[in-house]
Amino acid sequence: MLVNDGIDANYFSELSLYQELLLVLSERASAELSRPNSALETTQVARWFGLNPPLATGASRGEVAKTLRQLKSTLNTVGINVKYATLKERDRGTLGSALPPQWGNYTISGAEKLLVDTGGKFVFTANSALLALPPINTDANTANWGQSCFANFIHEMTHAFLNTDDVEDNTGQSMYGPAAHLAWVANGGAKLNDRYTHARQCSTLEVASNWGFFVEDLMTTSEREAVSAKVLASRKTGWSAKLREEANRLLGVRAPVRI
Ligand SMILES: [Zn+2]
Repeated sequence: MLVNDGIDANYFSELSLYQELLLVLSERASAELSRPNSALETTQVARWFGLNPPLATGASRGEVAKTLRQLKSTLNTVGINVKYATLKERDRGTLGSALPPQWGNYTISGAEKLLVDTGGKFVFTANSALLALPPINTDANTANWGQSCFANFIHEMTHAFLNTDDVEDNTGQSMYGPAAHLAWVANGGAKLNDRYTHARQCSTLEVASNWGFFVEDLMTTSEREAVSAKVLASRKTGWSAKLREEANRLLGVRAPVRI
């Protein structure tokens, strides 16, 4: 559950909409993946997580369904404070961040532990660049997808609640965008390295960006277009001059924020 910790009410509403969307899509996909021969298995699951085979690090539809249910139940029951980056934390190259309170102690299979051990505080920090992203990707051609607010929101929620990582492939390519992901698949889907420590290798289920693109890919084109239109309309009328000022202040430049 998102808790507003000092961000503009309109912007918080937008993030709350992403939260609702994530819950609805997680429910829909986990139900579908619980059935044998789900069409999702050979399309979206294979595309973003790989299947085992053909990718050595791939995931089964059961694992994906289970993880979606864990994400949904955690997001429903555990609070996460949403705040702006402080002056010290501001970084134009960073969209947002949401590390778990005890970074590194949780694993995907340890979600039950997470639910009973939430003495730490979960915080989602919205950084300046996030405000300039499109709400959601509307291009059905996944090869052209870039970052969106929704995909980034999911990316960060999985950092917080599933202990996912930012990774790079065995050529040192950071796995941040869909193009990097597709290059990794083309490269044979070799084990992914933890980007920061290089100390361990991750499965595709442990990659934050995979979740963002996967969940966004669960939506039909018309669903994506409808959500995008709704958010853009809401930004036009609902984003106050104050929020635009705030965005500009966070950006540290005078140029208007692209919305
Ligand atoms: Zn990340």
